[in-house]
Amino acid sequence: MARALFASDLHLATARPAAVDRFLRFVGEEAARANALYVLGDLFEYWIGDDELSAPDGDPLAKQVAAAFRALTRGGVPLYFMHGNRDFLVGEAFARDCGANLLADPAVREVGGVATLLMHGDTLCTDDRDYMAWRATARSEAWQRELLAAPLALRRERARALREQSEASKKGKAAEIMDVNAEAVREAFERHRVSRMIHGHTHRPGRHLLEIGGRTCERWVLPDWYERGGYLLVEDGAPRFVYF
Ligand code: MN
Repeated sequence: MARALFASDLHLATARPAAVDRFLRFVGEEAARANALYVLGDLFEYWIGDDELSAPDGDPLAKQVAAAFRALTRGGVPLYFMHGNRDFLVGEAFARDCGANLLADPAVREVGGVATLLMHGDTLCTDDRDYMAWRATARSEAWQRELLAAPLALRRERARALREQSEASKKGKAAEIMDVNAEAVREAFERHRVSRMIHGHTHRPGRHLLEIGGRTCERWVLPDWYERGGYLLVEDGAPRFVYF
């Protein structure tokens, strides 16, 4: 039986030890028995540079996560990693350290015989104009170069300030604005000519069916790990949610 696992929005942080424990068990048990693990973004609450792994003042959590992934991939389970909006600075050095393959967002992969569109999901939230503008800045080479040039301690401080800003701005926004835009979803299905999509980001797990050009398309939204946590298991091409 072919089993592919999809998880996103784990938001791992030292301040959230239960999620870290859950993650270590998940990678050592469920993922170790799977044929592939896909992490579709926001594995970390924030990631400020791959030198977390090598710097003397690097976050021990970074090393712990990388070691767990390394054991998984050395055991023969392929690991695919896509950036989220919190950990888009994860780079080649981290991927090499874990044995992970970095996936572009979006990516189309064949999963259990079905062409499947994989995304983090933030690019579908086009109603959130402020966020889309910030995303364009944060994904620019100039912004990233400037940030990465700062010492780790300063970057940590900067990341904390950015998270506070983001929390404050979310409070003033209607919930619908932070969900996917229906037209953006339709457009993604059409552009990539697929009938299955898996993404995270919105923290609104579920399965949504829609008709596009006479085809039934399904959109699977992954759960976050803030409380219970879980993942999507695609077994022989059939997806289902597994909650912890
Ligand atoms: Mn996200």
